[in-house]
Amino acid sequence: MTGTNGNPTDTTDTTGPTDHTGVIVVGSGPTGLLLAGDLATAGIPVTVLEKRPRKISNLSRAFALHARSLEQLDARGLADELEATGRPLDRLRLFGRLSIDLTALPSRFNHVLVLPQYEVEKALARRAVEAGAGFRYDTEMTGLVQDADGVTVGTRGPDGRTESLRAAYVVGADGMRSAVRGAIGLPFPGKSVIRSVVLADVQLAEQPDELLTVSAVGDAFAFLAPFGDGYYRVIGWHRGHDVPDTEPLDLAEVKEITRLALGRDYGMHDARWMSRFHSDERQAPAYRVGRVFLAGDAAHVHTPAGGQGMNTGLQDAANLSWKLVSVLAGHADPALLDTYQSERHPVGKAVLRSSGGLVRLAMAKRPWTRAARAGLTGLVSHVGPARRKATAQVTGIGYRYPAPRGTHPLTGTRVPDVRLADGSRLYEALRDGRFVLITPAHEPAHEPFSPELPPHPDRLTTAHWASARRTTLLVRPDGYAAWASDTAPDPGALRSALTAHLGPAPARQLH
Ligand SMILES: Cc1cc2nc3c(=O)[nH]c(=O)nc-3n(C[C@H](O)[C@H](O)[C@H](O)COP(=O)(O)OP(=O)(O)OC[C@H]3O[C@@H](n4cnc5c(N)ncnc54)[C@H](O)[C@@H]3O)c2cc1C
Repeated sequence: MTGTNGNPTDTTDTTGPTDHTGVIVVGSGPTGLLLAGDLATAGIPVTVLEKRPRKISNLSRAFALHARSLEQLDARGLADELEATGRPLDRLRLFGRLSIDLTALPSRFNHVLVLPQYEVEKALARRAVEAGAGFRYDTEMTGLVQDADGVTVGTRGPDGRTESLRAAYVVGADGMRSAVRGAIGLPFPGKSVIRSVVLADVQLAEQPDELLTVSAVGDAFAFLAPFGDGYYRVIGWHRGHDVPDTEPLDLAEVKEITRLALGRDYGMHDARWMSRFHSDERQAPAYRVGRVFLAGDAAHVHTPAGGQGMNTGLQDAANLSWKLVSVLAGHADPALLDTYQSERHPVGKAVLRSSGGLVRLAMAKRPWTRAARAGLTGLVSHVGPARRKATAQVTGIGYRYPAPRGTHPLTGTRVPDVRLADGSRLYEALRDGRFVLITPAHEPAHEPFSPELPPHPDRLTTAHWASARRTTLLVRPDGYAAWASDTAPDPGALRSALTAHLGPAPARQLH
């Protein structure tokens, strides 16, 4: 089999496609799971390929859910249960004395939620299964070829059995070493930023004072986070000990780095797992090639600083899922799918820049970089706009998507979780994956707002503001503003806005 770029890809299948589905998602990490759940909830046939066996969970790496991710999970009815499992933290310490206070964040989730990545995956996997997503574990994507009508994917399942599957679209959510990315011939330019990072899951004789402990002193950096089951994850790095990932690691080395960075090792003992890794900063130049998309770590990787990797992948998935649903259901032109690249690629780039900047400042060695660190600490701690910008970026609530020239200033911005006139919240109204049209409370509940009259009542929820706002606002399924008007729009203008975003065509069958 050959990729679209002509590169040979590794598949041994000779039997021809044996299955046909709407979307194949490769990888069941947080990105793939959120995406698969959204597609299945919308009735799109979806198959998830996962090379791990069912019972072996993804290595838990992330420990922090930021506000925007919690809002997305709220829009899927999952935030409350995760909030009950994790522990909220009002202040996020980035390094040294640089921390951001989250209590004034304009979000229902004015904190960072500390919980292991596998808890997020568990909730997302359950939702996807309940919605009818098909999972094939122990099944590796080995190659793909696309044509005008779809994508044929080569797989190797349990016992080495090979098979070809066919789908309208494929999403590579298969992590940093993405085979999908390779199959569509995309490079992953960037570099290793920090090498020889040590990871260990340990028990501690002394409990840290803070929920997340992080500091960098001299040449050493260490981070401690609780799993909630008595074990802590230690992440450490020492500039002076730069060895390959394959170099054996023992607890004494982890303890020493922790002592250097945090002043003590908290009596760590009984490591159940230890490893070395290196952290890269890389981004694919394109997130879409034809019918194949990249999302999450397959599209971008960066240092763990600021805890944004899983969070960015979840946002990628939330951005892509409703667009795939709209196109596959025949409501939108396939050109809508290009906006995934134009909206998410700049965000990935910004995350690479901010997390890389944090690491470089945390590990600053030269006098001028140390001075920059002190300056940034002062700026973020004491200057309102700088603090708000840093907070909005790390938590993900500050990103906005490009809006066409001449559109309302709200277009492309994140819509906060506003109260609606019936007592519910916007992010509850978003739970069925539809657009939401919010109109002033005094507008009559008939034309053009009557549920019968919008061109696509099955794709639109209508609501009124609880407050006395004059704006008419169309909210996308991912909680960003699609269109707005400050004055009551005439029915024709509203109807054409709805048609532009929800499409004129009736639903058609997948082929
Ligand atoms: C030490 C460390 C700490 C981190 N801390 C944080 C943090 O605090 N906050 C945060 O947001 N992020 C953090 N991250 C990053 C976060 O863990 C990742 O960004 C996140 O896991 C990416 O999710 P994903 O679904 O895109 O990919 P992954 O979680 O990597 O999932 C990819 C899946 O694809 C499967 N797969 C791969 N190839 C194939 C194939 N060919 N066929 C089928 N299946 C395949 C894999 O088995 C895997 O299950 C951290 C990372 C590290 C290393």
